[in-house]
Amino acid sequence: KLAAGEYGAEQPGRVMAHFGRTLEVRDTSHQPVRCHLRANLDGLVTGDRVIWRAGQEGSGVVVAREERDSVLKRPDARGQLKPVAANIDQLLIVFAVEPAPHPNLIDRYLVAAEATGITPVLVLNKTDLLPDDGGELGTLLERYRALGYPVVRTTTANDAGLDALRQQLEGRTSVFVGQSGVGKSSLIDRLLPDETLRIGALSEDSRKGTHTTTTARLYAMRSDEVANGELIDSPGIREFGLIHLDEQDVTEGFIELRPFIGHCRFRDCRHRAEPGCALLDAVEAGKIHPERFASYRRILDSLDA
Ligand code: GDP
Ligand code: ZN
Repeated sequence: KLAAGEYGAEQPGRVMAHFGRTLEVRDTSHQPVRCHLRANLDGLVTGDRVIWRAGQEGSGVVVAREERDSVLKRPDARGQLKPVAANIDQLLIVFAVEPAPHPNLIDRYLVAAEATGITPVLVLNKTDLLPDDGGELGTLLERYRALGYPVVRTTTANDAGLDALRQQLEGRTSVFVGQSGVGKSSLIDRLLPDETLRIGALSEDSRKGTHTTTTARLYAMRSDEVANGELIDSPGIREFGLIHLDEQDVTEGFIELRPFIGHCRFRDCRHRAEPGCALLDAVEAGKIHPERFASYRRILDSLDA
């Protein structure tokens, strides 16, 4: 038993949620502990791996943050990019059979994902609405699979519809992003059926006056199907993808263009009609899909506008 002002040994944990300088940290046996931040620490976000020490009455103090593998950022009220979640392994970009995505939209999401360095995964939801032959969307997604992107098909309409998704979540920390109406809430509800899990362990009073609806929360997915999957979610995170991109982000975000960049005859080549353009030559030679290239140029043009 610890006396006042006394702290236990240092141990690893992970930030599940934060409310100002109060953090909900999960210990290695997945128990939540309410921690405060040591004075010299700042800017911790959900998903951070931390070192903490137990104090009195089930509380603790976070004394250090471990190096982050990845960071997801969102613009704040002043348009400044701020970290909102850390140590994410994959961005699940959700699309639906209805409303059908514009192909350009998939590319925009992939460009934004590539800019974060977090692995994007395409999730096609509402497959119960797909025609038997798979439809145009099926063909389109095969193109992305050929580029190396994982593609998962889901439906919340029956029990088997989430099996592939559960496999994709196993052993990783994931976030769901995508346009409204594609079924993100429905998918998450099915993955996290336990209401108490979703609300979290911190008592109501510690949240008063804080922005609970905008800060991200980490959920452990523990079921017969997923033993070790983690989900980080917040309304703001779901809107990821609508961030500002610059020209370099866009060019590097089309991964199949990368081998050809820097090989154009003119150093300032804009890959439109210039002679000796390595990208146009690659499209001509069938090494880059013409629709992906058209999409690339459309996104570039939208930056100029
Ligand atoms: P969100 O805005 O991305 O969170 O989307 P919601 O989860 O709110 O879903 C939007 C609508 O799509 C709701 O009416 C859902 O019932 C419906 N929906 C979600 N998943 C499926 C699915 O797999 N199949 C069908 N047919 N409808 C779905
Ligand atoms: Zn060029």
